[in-house]
Amino acid sequence: MTTTADRTLGEVAPFRNERVKDFKDSADREAMNAALRAVKGRLGAQYPLVINGERIETEKKIRSLNPADPSQIVGVVSSASRQEANAAIDAAARAFESWKRLTLAQRASYLFKAAELLRRRRLEYDALLVYEVGKSWPEADGDIAEAIDFLEYYAREALRYGEPQPVVPLAGEHNELVYIPLGVGAVIPPWNFAGAIMMGMTAAAVVSGNTVVLKPSSDAAIIAAWFVDLLAEVGVPPGVVNFIPGSGSEIGDLIVTHPQVRFISFTGSKEVGLRINELAAKPQSGQKWIKRVVAEMGGKDSIVVCADADLAAAVEAVAVSAFGFQGQKCSACSRAIVEEPIYDEFVARLKRRVAEITVGDPENPENYMGPVVNEAALASIMRYIEKGQSEGRLISGGKRVGENGYFLEPTVIADVAPDATIAQEEIFGPVLAVIKAKNFDDAMAIANNTEFGLTGSLYTSDEAKIERARGDFFVGNLYFNRKSTGALVGVHPFGGFNMSGTDSKAGGNDYLLLFMQGKTISRKV
Ligand code: NAP
Repeated sequence: MTTTADRTLGEVAPFRNERVKDFKDSADREAMNAALRAVKGRLGAQYPLVINGERIETEKKIRSLNPADPSQIVGVVSSASRQEANAAIDAAARAFESWKRLTLAQRASYLFKAAELLRRRRLEYDALLVYEVGKSWPEADGDIAEAIDFLEYYAREALRYGEPQPVVPLAGEHNELVYIPLGVGAVIPPWNFAGAIMMGMTAAAVVSGNTVVLKPSSDAAIIAAWFVDLLAEVGVPPGVVNFIPGSGSEIGDLIVTHPQVRFISFTGSKEVGLRINELAAKPQSGQKWIKRVVAEMGGKDSIVVCADADLAAAVEAVAVSAFGFQGQKCSACSRAIVEEPIYDEFVARLKRRVAEITVGDPENPENYMGPVVNEAALASIMRYIEKGQSEGRLISGGKRVGENGYFLEPTVIADVAPDATIAQEEIFGPVLAVIKAKNFDDAMAIANNTEFGLTGSLYTSDEAKIERARGDFFVGNLYFNRKSTGALVGVHPFGGFNMSGTDSKAGGNDYLLLFMQGKTISRKV
């Protein structure tokens, strides 16, 4: 009998994306309401560190708060000090000695089991995201569907890399190229795809044979604690994933510079990514390797709307790309670049569309936009809105909504110059700058005028413009006549150029190579 531990790629069903739930369906709607009630009953629980499978409580805690109602504590995690961070790295180094000896197929079996269990608990995880980071139901479900996709996809990728790799035959020799893991890794995810990115980064590292310390975002540590427990439940051995929540500024440098850490897998802001890259480049005493850094960072993504575009479709795409999950996606549209002949009509239609957006507690599925993630984010976005009002014409929004919770109106500022602050810096909130372009050449030049290069979209019916943008629009993920968000695992491998990061292409078939090294073995026959 074939067990899940020794399946080959040919024996598993081809990868298919998980379908996102339609909460208009009354059965799913009722089930989600039940999940919200169940998860609400568990809010406030305490979560320890997990080092070598041991659960360790520390005195210092991090409280995860519901951004829709910060008086509600979603959970409390122990916070790792430098001592525990060191202990976690030691534990990962010890566990590596046995974990690396498993075959890729054996390690893939853990990911398949984790995907299955996550699928069964999907709505509970959805509900947790509603409370922990303020996602609407569809956004939360999209995040967990993507997490399941990453587990399934990287499991299949591991099977593929475990198969004989093509090398050119040579008479008199037997030659092989095999992929082996790197060692101990630091996994440092952001809070915004608190399920998908955190699980995807962790799963890719461990299925490749590495062991890790997982330092979750302080804004989304509870979902990471749940996932670490889920991995233990499916039998991932102690020490393979060590869980060390802690403030990035307190233990981040230690993890990054530790001589036993072989690689850092980071997703987050440009500022933190660049710091990690710089620190990791300097070899430490006792360090035997060049650390590998995978750093996926920020974006300042544009949708270009040409005069020949389907205007209704473009307005819709800009609205959902700019304001879905409150604009807190690295792929969010934060600049609409619109050709002059349709500019006024576009702005008028966008204003009408944005007026339909509902803002409020995402526990209620009628609300399209929930809160931004925390108080510091609210203050920073408000500063950009203020600045933006001196840089353009406020069309929609601009104000905080209510006093409890970090709610903001969807905000559109038109007539913004291409080099204005709000056209250049990542705001990471529901703020859209609308920029007028003289013509297509001008639009392309504006689209490429930031330091980032993550996603971009072009609305046009002109094949020549599409052909031109294929070459000239300098972004890692380029879309035509569709929104700039919603990349699917396997379908749209994801990652950006320039200051958007190392273009790792998460969810693509090169991704696991970032966590492995090739070994060529030749034998005279
Ligand atoms: P962030 O503030 O840079 O934090 C990301 C992670 O780094 C968190 O776990 C954080 O921990 C940790 N960290 C902070 N300072 C550190 C340090 N000195 N050393 C090591 N780790 C440190 O980013 P974020 O606010 O969580 O996420 C939003 C950003 O992520 C945006 O810029 C967005 O564009 C980007 N993003 C990019 C992609 C992509 O694929 N390119 C995808 C998603 C998000 P603490 O929480 O404890 O500070």
